Amino acid sequence: MRDGLLQIFRETCCELRPRAPIPELAVEFFPFANINNTIRMREGKLFVRLSDLLEGAPPAVLRAIAHILLAKMYRKPIEREPAARYRRYIASHDITRRAHLVRQMRGRKRLDSAQGRTYDLEAVFEDLNTRFFHGLLARPQMTWSRDHARNSLGHYDPAHNAIVVSRIFDHPRVPRYAVDYIVYHEMLHLKHPVKLRGSRRCVHSAEFQAEEKSFPQLEEVKRFLKQM
Ligand SMILES: [Zn+2]
Repeated sequence: MRDGLLQIFRETCCELRPRAPIPELAVEFFPFANINNTIRMREGKLFVRLSDLLEGAPPAVLRAIAHILLAKMYRKPIEREPAARYRRYIASHDITRRAHLVRQMRGRKRLDSAQGRTYDLEAVFEDLNTRFFHGLLARPQMTWSRDHARNSLGHYDPAHNAIVVSRIFDHPRVPRYAVDYIVYHEMLHLKHPVKLRGSRRCVHSAEFQAEEKSFPQLEEVKRFLKQM
């Protein structure tokens, strides 16, 4: 499906600019709070994000949105037929209702809940606690971050005794072991409180790092995080 999507964008580039070389393209579905699609150029590469509400849309609709976004990017006129096709699809009963539901759900999560759309952080914590810590760690507050921050995967906030995990991981495409790993890392912070060594704070001590390396799916996790 992903290859198909990329192919659609490549072909549409060709149609719009038959003589120009096809730029490097990255296309992904993204859980925007709304039906939203974005395109931007960075260092000659085109980055496209489509609302995940369009996942499963028929190819003709994806072709239409590719035309709209690329025409916008290259300042070409947007043709009437794809514009109408996209509008019809969005206006169709199902999509507007789904968007409404998702907005409601995503809006409600501002109330710092451990229960995400896909993963429940309290369940993740309890499971890891049993598997790796003999159930000995006291559960702090578990929350998904409010935004889709990419700079911080997760952090432990000692002031509020809370583990916060970036919401980008609360998605069906994210494997459970990736969420496990992020939470596991933060749980090691609970187990190994920050030590002062001289005047330097030692956040990830040698014991911390040794224990982190024992995470069973470490290699898969690293590979997944790299391509994310
Ligand atoms: Zn850390």
